[in-house]
Amino acid sequence: PSHKLIAGNWKMNGSLAENEALVRAIAAGMGEATCTVAVCAPALYLGQLQQLRAGSRLEAGAQDVSAHTQGAYTGEVSAKMLKEFGVRYAIVGHSERRQYHHESDALVADKAKAALASGITPIVCVGETLAEREAGKTEEVVKRQLAAVIHTNGHCISEVVVAYEPVWAIGTGKTATPEMAQQVHAVLRAQLKAATDHADRVHILYGGSMNAANAQALLAQPDIDGGLVGGASLKAADFLQIVAAAR
Ligand code: 13P
Repeated sequence: PSHKLIAGNWKMNGSLAENEALVRAIAAGMGEATCTVAVCAPALYLGQLQQLRAGSRLEAGAQDVSAHTQGAYTGEVSAKMLKEFGVRYAIVGHSERRQYHHESDALVADKAKAALASGITPIVCVGETLAEREAGKTEEVVKRQLAAVIHTNGHCISEVVVAYEPVWAIGTGKTATPEMAQQVHAVLRAQLKAATDHADRVHILYGGSMNAANAQALLAQPDIDGGLVGGASLKAADFLQIVAAAR
């Protein structure tokens, strides 16, 4: 891609007051950022986010989306509902949802499909656990996870964002080295190339303890097109430093 994408994933954090302070600081501080900047808020706050970011270039994302269009699915939020609130992205298949909500590769692929059908860009998360890495299964795992999405989404696959998030690096302070991350990103790019002529325009984000100190080296890798930032996206100063590193 011609520019990078930095997306914050707030996870289950924030409040009306905290969100207001955070979004105002980000919108004011991102200035003429040449990268795309987004924050993925809890669904309940997406309406507030729409108002707070009005007039700025900050984009909004959800942290999940239903695989279904509408109907008797208690507790779920559809892609069409997200669209009504100006949401551009939806994270799908985050490792916390795969782990705590038993989301399968097939369900994640269906969620990506539902998002695309309503004009929402899915941010598809893939990544290995520590046990899988130690067993030498990293490539096998991420390829299986991405293959499900490619299989279900066919020619639309160039419209998704992919996020490589090694599970052992999430919230642990242990970051993949730029070389380790690049190696996996290259595998994912090759897999996309086999499926589409437009693989070079797909954003492949790195996520997992990305912070102001390590962002620049990660973002300098040829196949790292941005970041999916958890903890460091909750502090405007830290998040803005990552945005600055992506220019
Ligand atoms: P941390 O940046 O807190 O490690 O979280 C990464 C993540 O899971 C983003 O989706």
